[in-house]
Amino acid sequence: MNFWGPWLPLLAAAACCSLLSCKRKEATAPAEAFQSLVSEKQEARHPEDFSAARAYRHCADLCALGPRPSGSPAYQKQVEMITSRLTASGWRVQPISFSPPTLSHRRMQNLCATFGESDSPRELIISCHIDTKGSGEDAILGADDGASGAAVVMELARVLARRPNLARRIELIFFDGEESFGAHITSQDGLFGSRHEVQRRAGRLPRYLINLDMVGGAGKTIAVPLLDTTEDMMEQYLRALHVLGFSENRWTIFPGGMLDDHRPFAEAGVHTLNLIASFRRSTWWHTKADNMERISHESLGETGRVVLQLLRQILS
Ligand SMILES: [Zn+2]
Repeated sequence: MNFWGPWLPLLAAAACCSLLSCKRKEATAPAEAFQSLVSEKQEARHPEDFSAARAYRHCADLCALGPRPSGSPAYQKQVEMITSRLTASGWRVQPISFSPPTLSHRRMQNLCATFGESDSPRELIISCHIDTKGSGEDAILGADDGASGAAVVMELARVLARRPNLARRIELIFFDGEESFGAHITSQDGLFGSRHEVQRRAGRLPRYLINLDMVGGAGKTIAVPLLDTTEDMMEQYLRALHVLGFSENRWTIFPGGMLDDHRPFAEAGVHTLNLIASFRRSTWWHTKADNMERISHESLGETGRVVLQLLRQILS
């Protein structure tokens, strides 16, 4: 009785949402609509905290643009969306255009965001990729593999802007060209944006990088690649889980390495942590089933909290 009393207006509102709008019901399951209302209420009370509801909305708005493969009009629209939202909270966003050495006819564009006036290199990068897999008929929405990492970084930008002394020590990067044009990432195909950033920053690399990829799926299991992770970053990861009380059954360690955007930085000596969901045995990965139905507030919110805890530890 005591538990449900305060939530009855929210339950009624959630029911109305699902009854009044068939379109909204398709896009957002009733449980997610309810969770959204709960998150918004929490956000109103604690605006300094990471808001799962805001991250979810960023994710949904990016997906509303449709598939966003590198070089597509939808990719350019998401660049504009991310730029305007980060700029609104005080970040300086710099588009970095380039052509990969092996694909000189293609133009790609990373987004790099810093806080404050200084042009000196920041100590830590938080990154994600924003291109989605496939093209034409085969293009996928990439709600998890593309939008989820960006959504978390966009909400982190708002939260960090309220802590300017911390924000000034961090750079946010949205990579283009993570996805390969062939079936799988190889030494020549994929990771174009991260390879470019390492190459253009020679001698000015940060000490740390935290990369987010596929971090919004309901019930996800994160699998940090052991072979790509320095001892200090692994300790920080395990400490963050301990502090937050998160289960090591869902925030796990993968015993091998992983070809993802952290790898070019790790190879250049940066201490990296790649937060990526276990995906190899999934049925949704790189298919049209990677849509908003698999994204959960809880999952986005947990990822945001882990990153903020890592920042507290690493940059304390
Ligand atoms: Zn992918």
